[in-house]
Amino acid sequence: MPEAPKNSLKEKNEKALKFIESVTENADEVQKRVLSEILAANAHVEYLQRHGLNGHTDRETFKKLMPVITYDHIQPDINRIANGDTSQILCSKPISEFLTSSGTSGGERKLMPTIEEELERRSLLYSLLMPVMSQYVPELETGKGMYFLFVKSEAKTPGGLVARPVLTSYYKSSHFKQRPYDPYTNYTSPNETILCPDSYQSMYSQLLCGLCQNKEVLRVGAVFASGFIRAIRFLEKHWSILCKDIESGTLNSQITDPSVRDSVSKILKPDPKLAGFIATECGKKSWQGIITRLWPNTKYVDVIVTGTMSQYIPTLDYYSNGLPLVCTMYASSECYFGVNLNPMCKPSEVSYTLIPTMCYFEFLPVNRNNGVNSDSVSVPESLTEKEQLQLVDLVDVKLGQEYELVVTTYAGLYRYRVGDLLRVAGFKNKAPQFNFICRKNVVLSIDSDKTDEVELQNAVKNAVTHLVPFDANVGEYTSYADTSKIPGHYVLFWELSLNGTTPIPPSVFEDCCLAIEESLNSVYRQGRASDKSIGPLEIKIVEAGTFDKLMDYAISLGASINQYKTPRCVKFAPIVELLNSRVASTYFSPKCPKWVPGHKQWCKNHD
Ligand code: AMP
Repeated sequence: MPEAPKNSLKEKNEKALKFIESVTENADEVQKRVLSEILAANAHVEYLQRHGLNGHTDRETFKKLMPVITYDHIQPDINRIANGDTSQILCSKPISEFLTSSGTSGGERKLMPTIEEELERRSLLYSLLMPVMSQYVPELETGKGMYFLFVKSEAKTPGGLVARPVLTSYYKSSHFKQRPYDPYTNYTSPNETILCPDSYQSMYSQLLCGLCQNKEVLRVGAVFASGFIRAIRFLEKHWSILCKDIESGTLNSQITDPSVRDSVSKILKPDPKLAGFIATECGKKSWQGIITRLWPNTKYVDVIVTGTMSQYIPTLDYYSNGLPLVCTMYASSECYFGVNLNPMCKPSEVSYTLIPTMCYFEFLPVNRNNGVNSDSVSVPESLTEKEQLQLVDLVDVKLGQEYELVVTTYAGLYRYRVGDLLRVAGFKNKAPQFNFICRKNVVLSIDSDKTDEVELQNAVKNAVTHLVPFDANVGEYTSYADTSKIPGHYVLFWELSLNGTTPIPPSVFEDCCLAIEESLNSVYRQGRASDKSIGPLEIKIVEAGTFDKLMDYAISLGASINQYKTPRCVKFAPIVELLNSRVASTYFSPKCPKWVPGHKQWCKNHD
């Protein structure tokens, strides 16, 4: 491995930090330039013409004429592009592919148009992370990062464009695959193991390479906390075969992908001593601190634990013996947004500084009612003219205020509501730093799935049809994301109203579990059927009167009797305990729901 010249690394770090200083200091000017660049480049696209922008590139005209939108508004345009219309609908540059968001519309992944040059913007954001990190943790360039990174399946739209998740697109791009040697992107996983489409072979080979190089590893991570914990779970199941491979120096025959075999063979050498050490550690009853035991030089765990991923913090603390949990960036399929400039802070204090060159940012003020049972968010789906006028620019947000993020991107989204709620936690120069509060409307999430209340309600409605022959109904229900075991799973608490006298056989409730799963969105079903990152859905039947008790409890904590509504999802531990203490019977989904890559309407023959 070539040595990185120390000076050039120092210079590169300084350059990145200077860039952050400069764009945050001049945040408003940069934002003005970004908007005018986007509007000038796309002056002739159909969408802007439709709204009469007529070549204007200034903020005032833009804000006056362009509506603030959600995905549903542009879905017809997106569908045209997906079906092969190559005219300049949203963007003057050719749409290079669709990025499939984990947010859904009508049960299917949203399709975000992107253009080739966006890859450069994403790479730029990535290039800021380690210079920031190196201010807090020195000498990271002297070792490696063990990151569990994966590609997911991709599909083709009827018009021939590729549709895949943004990270799959990035890992398959030359920006990642042909990156020049850089000590900060020196990973234990060879590219071939990351790019292997078979999730078992990919995970196995990445863990094997990570174990073989255990002394060199200085940082470990994955994108989201759930992915990292899945890797530990995999190790729990497969350590003995991994140890055999390390002992003998030969890769077992389950790994069949030739490029994976080839790349692993360059790292895997017979090492009975290491194999013995790993077997001893993994064979111990307690797995507390397994990360620091197997990878003793690890300084931190790099995973996103903000938002719904915060549910995994206790598990990560357990496995890592309390190593710092570091959240470095905030990004989406629509656009990459920002970085955490104080990465060693506590997870509860993480704030992201939005980088003003990434897109044009606007913010819709939000008033959230913090209920006892759930956080209700009052943000209208469609905005009146008056509400549209309330949107503020990046440099005008107020400390402590919460906002919904709205972006205008180089790839052709204009005043698009991302669906994330953020709170201003401070400023870096003129640029605000935001705590990530939550994704609007999401009630349940285990991995990248995001299930909202309406989807859940529909799914329950579909399942309840199985109870009709028994003259039974679901009187009340709520839900809970159970992440105490890996993979986590959705739990529904049902209180039945029974009129019939025929007992309901367990198989009927199991059918209900499956009916709910079949009704949930494609990201959920993919997590269940393909990625196995979500476990079988569980219905817990609770005793009659349980939901009255729940209401009494909420009221005792200060909820208003008049306004009390059963929360459709519960998180507060005493409430979950109350529900669990009154469970009469439990049922699990007996099999995986159906899932096929691509959108339903593209794969009619699979249905
Ligand atoms: P996707 O479009 O599927 O990549 O999902 C993007 C969404 O993931 C964002 O809009 C956020 O809701 C969530 N997300 C991304 N980064 C973070 C982060 N650092 N903390 C919390 N949530 C995040």
